[in-house]
This record gives sequence, C-alpha cells and structure tokens, in this order.
Amino acid sequence: MAPQGTIVACPNCGTKNRVRPTPTGVPRCSVCQTLLPWIVDAGADTFDQEITASVPVLVDFWAPWCGPCRMVSPLVERLGQENAGHLKIVKLNVDEAQAIAARYGVQGIPLLVLIRNGSEADRLVGAVPLERLQAWLAPHL
Ligand SMILES: [Zn+2]
Repeated sequence: MAPQGTIVACPNCGTKNRVRPTPTGVPRCSVCQTLLPWIVDAGADTFDQEITASVPVLVDFWAPWCGPCRMVSPLVERLGQENAGHLKIVKLNVDEAQAIAARYGVQGIPLLVLIRNGSEADRLVGAVPLERLQAWLAPHL
C-alpha cells in the first residue's frame, strides 16, 4: 500500500509537506505556516476520505486518454493554488475508479464536480477557459 497522503511543496519556502486527508482544518507549511495549495490524487480506496474536508472540494474526473483533460488539469491546479486555504482539489482517474464515476453519473470527461459537506453542489462538463472556471467557482467559495 502506498504511504497515505500527498507531498505538497510550500509555495513560500519550498519545504515539502506530507498532507493527509483530514476532515478539519486546512494544511499549512510545517515550517513557515503558509497555507498550502491542497491538490491531491485520489484512488478508489481513498476518494471518500479525500472528499471529506472542511472546505469545498473540487473533483477533477479525468483519464489518461482524454486530451481535453490535459488542458483542464493545469487550470484546476491553478484554482487550487489561487484558493489555498479555501478549496481542495481532488483528482480522480475514472479508469481506476469506475464505481465512483458511476456514482456521480459521469458520462463525459473532463468533468468537474464541486462537493460541499459531502454532497454535490454543482458540476461543469467539458474543457473551458480559466476565466469561466473562476467565474463558475467564485459563488461557491
Ligand atoms: Zn513554508
């Protein structure tokens, strides 16, 4: 089993922090206390734990063969960096988690699903520009 958590480099001091899923609080750098961008890769076994967070969670449903997904993923990561402390990004490879994809009724990807308090609050299908992503997300933060 892979060690639990994700390594996140601090944008301020560069310290690599291991960030574990937690239902309370948001991750900060262990050295300088800067809010860390909370961007994690989930698998079928860790997904439910990862989407349980004190801040809204944006799930990026993607797959390696999906060209548009490769355009959306860097934008989603940027949203995670811009909104450190207020948003968590969870990336899920649907090929490796088909039961979860079915639970969310994923019919096409890229698909972004915003989860608040464990429930879906909104979703956005397809590759869209950063400005539209930001506008879509803003009312939820
Ligand atoms: Zn730091």
